Amino acid sequence: MLRPLASLRHRFLLALGSVLALALLALGLVARYQITPILLEEERRYATAELDRAERALDNELGHMQRLVEDWAWWEDTYQFVRGERPEYVDSNLYEGTLATLDLQLMVFFSADDEPYWTLGFDASGRFATCTAETQACPWADHALRVLQERITNGLTEDSHTWLMAAPRLALIGVSPIYKGDDDTVPPSGWLAMVRPLSATWIQQLRETTGIDLTVDSVPMAASPPAEALSRLSATRMRAFRDVEAMSEGHQVRLAATLPRQRYQASLETFRFALYWTSGVLVVAMIVVLLLLESIVLKPLRQFARFAQRLKEQETLDDTPLILLGRQDEIGMLVREFQQLHEHQRAQKALLLNLSQHDPLTGLANRRLFDEKLDAALAQVPEESDSVVTLMLDVDHFKPYNDHYGHPQGDECLVTLAEHMTRHFSAPGQLVARTGGEEFSVLLPRTSLADAQQQAAALGTTIQRLAIPHATSPVAPVVTVSIGVAVSTASHPLSATRLMSRADLALYRAKAHGRNRVEAYREAEQPTTSG
Ligand code: GH3
Ligand code: MG
Ligand code: MG
Repeated sequence: MLRPLASLRHRFLLALGSVLALALLALGLVARYQITPILLEEERRYATAELDRAERALDNELGHMQRLVEDWAWWEDTYQFVRGERPEYVDSNLYEGTLATLDLQLMVFFSADDEPYWTLGFDASGRFATCTAETQACPWADHALRVLQERITNGLTEDSHTWLMAAPRLALIGVSPIYKGDDDTVPPSGWLAMVRPLSATWIQQLRETTGIDLTVDSVPMAASPPAEALSRLSATRMRAFRDVEAMSEGHQVRLAATLPRQRYQASLETFRFALYWTSGVLVVAMIVVLLLLESIVLKPLRQFARFAQRLKEQETLDDTPLILLGRQDEIGMLVREFQQLHEHQRAQKALLLNLSQHDPLTGLANRRLFDEKLDAALAQVPEESDSVVTLMLDVDHFKPYNDHYGHPQGDECLVTLAEHMTRHFSAPGQLVARTGGEEFSVLLPRTSLADAQQQAAALGTTIQRLAIPHATSPVAPVVTVSIGVAVSTASHPLSATRLMSRADLALYRAKAHGRNRVEAYREAEQPTTSG
């Protein structure tokens, strides 16, 4: 048995699982450190572009403001008015309706010495009011007048100017020098300033024209103000703002836009979709690889391993999985090679066994096999009438035969005798063995002593009748044998050793009594007396 993690299946599972985990980790890291930053950067650029657009819209408004203030300032009537030459100008132009139509909160005419000449506007409570250079009774406009005057006096060139104002309230301001016609070669005859409040309605309009969810606020100037910043409110909304320079000291205008994050979301979704698909495909691919591996390689290998294991235990090839043998791939080749190798080994083993149990000259069983069979025969519980007989047979005067005819002829003689003995004792269970040089033993199970003696005598006769010439034998002119017979009966069972030594004694007696005869063991015989 294999340890659980040593099996190929588990190792493949582990290896492919690790590869999969690494691939997913890599995808995750790429998503986290490569894709997301790109998407966020793109989102930031989008926010900047939207703020640019909002700022351009604001600039546009300032442009309108500039054209409006220039229109009025370069008007002949205005020129005459600030020079005190056209009093009817007030009645025909400077009334409440004009401010409302031009969407202005305040309109101030300055004389050439930069002093307020004529002021009209809405006070804090929204009431229309007018004041002249003589009365100068517009306390609600004092702050604005002071700021504007300061600007005009300190450093305004002789062109028109526009600003954003952050405090005390958000407004657009336009200032233009007043010329006769638009002849700016002579010094200005005064200044015209217009203040347009950035009211909620105005901001709403800005929102509609830009399509941006925009707010415009006045914020105190921070020590190190972030010119632009972006904060992500949620997965779908973000807020970007930019601070724009304004006229008021200590304050600036903050343009803030709440923007949708759908581009980022859409890109993220797309990327996630791709990521999930890639991961899914990876997982499926791994599973398919594992399944294929399992069915094409691992399962057959396991079958083969089981088969080889069974073979070791049972030593049979009967149940070689045909499906494995029939395969045309490397596994099929391996199984076929293995089978051939195994068959070869089995044949070799059988050959070795045969060699170890048989005599190479005559092909008869050798002493080892004879002893095994004799033990087996004696071990079987014999029935009352049963007995086991052994014969011990020795060729008479074989040494002189060899000396006379030569050793090869002697061998031939032994082979002939072996053939005849085998033929003679061919009944089931009978066994002839060559147990010495020219000495043979015969096992006759389930045979009585009398029968055995008869068969031994018949064998002796048969051999003599073969008439193998033996010129130097004192017994006969042909080859003869002497045979000793011993029996083990159910009533007097013997060990193999004792039975064989009794047969040997009987043989000895056959030799002693003139050879070419059969002698059975007699109880009275003792090795010492007979030897
Ligand atoms: P005895 O009748 O007393 O048995 O006389 P013997 O000459 O047969 O007895 P001995 O044991 O002295 O001689 C046996 C001879 O058998 C000796 C040897 O030359 C011969 N012999 C033994 N094995 C072989 C064999 O394998 N081939 C041949 N050709 N001769 C063998
Ligand atoms: Mg001998
Ligand atoms: Mg002999």
